[in-house]
Amino acid sequence: MSEREPKKTIKEISPIDVYKLLPKTNCKECGEANCMAFATRVVNGELAVDNCPPITKEEYQVNFTKLEDLMAPPVRTVLVGTGDRAMKLGGKYVLYRHEFTYHNPTPIAIDVSDDLSEDERTARVRAVSDFSYNYIGRELRLDAVAIRSTQHEPAAFASAVTAVAAQTELPLILCTYDAAIMAAGLAHIRERRPLLYAATKDNWEEMAELALRYGCPLVVSAPHDIALLRSLVKTLVEYGVADLVLDPGTAVEPGLSGTIHAFSQIRRAVFADRDELLGYPLLGTPITAWISPEISHELIQWKEACAASMLLSRYADLLILHSLEGWVLLPQLIWRFNIYTDPRKPVSVDTGVRIFGSPKKDAPVLITTNYALTYFTVESDIKAAGIDCFLIVIDTGGNSVESAVAGRYLNAETIAAALKDTGIADRVNYRYLILPGLAARLSGETEEASGWHVLVGPKDSSGIPAFLKAHWPPKKW
Ligand code: SF4
Repeated sequence: MSEREPKKTIKEISPIDVYKLLPKTNCKECGEANCMAFATRVVNGELAVDNCPPITKEEYQVNFTKLEDLMAPPVRTVLVGTGDRAMKLGGKYVLYRHEFTYHNPTPIAIDVSDDLSEDERTARVRAVSDFSYNYIGRELRLDAVAIRSTQHEPAAFASAVTAVAAQTELPLILCTYDAAIMAAGLAHIRERRPLLYAATKDNWEEMAELALRYGCPLVVSAPHDIALLRSLVKTLVEYGVADLVLDPGTAVEPGLSGTIHAFSQIRRAVFADRDELLGYPLLGTPITAWISPEISHELIQWKEACAASMLLSRYADLLILHSLEGWVLLPQLIWRFNIYTDPRKPVSVDTGVRIFGSPKKDAPVLITTNYALTYFTVESDIKAAGIDCFLIVIDTGGNSVESAVAGRYLNAETIAAALKDTGIADRVNYRYLILPGLAARLSGETEEASGWHVLVGPKDSSGIPAFLKAHWPPKKW
């Protein structure tokens, strides 16, 4: 029997590898111009294989299986929950983000224990479900509720699970080491596909039975013992449980460095040693910071926040936290957003003209780029100062002003073209525009290319109100 060929990494797979296995009919049912275009987007991680409807038909079953195997990430994808808010855990193709991109941003779950009063529980679940923060045009939210059995009593757990499930559509994580308690909670929400926490060396068989009976993903827990974790995974896979999440244990402080080392060791084993038994999503539990009752709440929250940030970087695919305060959660959500932004594609906004306030024919016209962070900073400063103006957002490929000028994405021609395309000349009765200070060197050539007079604005948009006060309307007008 020949040895199995080593699996190609995502960097070694070419669009041709995918194209060869597609139906090659160019039918466009996938929304792409042809099969080759579809293959390119699959390799780029922008589309899944089953976005091609014909490939899922029986006649292509063999090729479909080959394609799924070809494109399967070394860290498996595990689905938790159902519907629009279902969360995908793992699905990682690379160890380092700069090698490709990270997929499936790490969901953040907040715990709710079954010893809370009805009012406390309702308020907490509502706070999790409603948590929302707008960051450079993106809505950052929490992702799941982890229901913990702290009364260690089946009826209490079942009651809490039923109440939480009725209150939120977020995915649920059921937390108990007791299979009887787990069964009591699970019976009421079998259709929600919750994540079961957790199978250990002592209860793995009962938990595996529940996971198989209800079709739920299962956490395997072996704190600070990777060899045992790996052995449990092997046992559970042989038992028939396919969707696993690994809990290597989280020690917040002291011991955080050991935790990060363990998470890194597991992930390196997957990518460097191709260890398939460790190729599952990793669960981090910064909530363990709350086990230290002797220190102040603020210090516990600080430790929880630090552990969460470090685990987001190395290499948690799911986090469970307790704190609901904005100062703990917002850094995590923004850090997650940044880590999971495709490094090949700068975050950008739509181009065109934006109108602030009620600008009249004598209102100023300002220029900026379509890099999201630049745009929203400028927008925020204009709104805060209550300025009536027009802002022309130019397509710079998502680059900031300084980078766009250096890379020639922002130049006299692109500015002149934007002025023409937006028809801004029909909205104002003069021909003055305000360039960002960091684009000052374009002023002369912009005047020549556009026929507009140029005023060089401040380098930082926080200076716009003072600049307009001093220079608007322009003296020559
Ligand atoms: Fe090709 Fe499938 Fe797209 Fe049709 S739907 S063009 S067969 S990739």
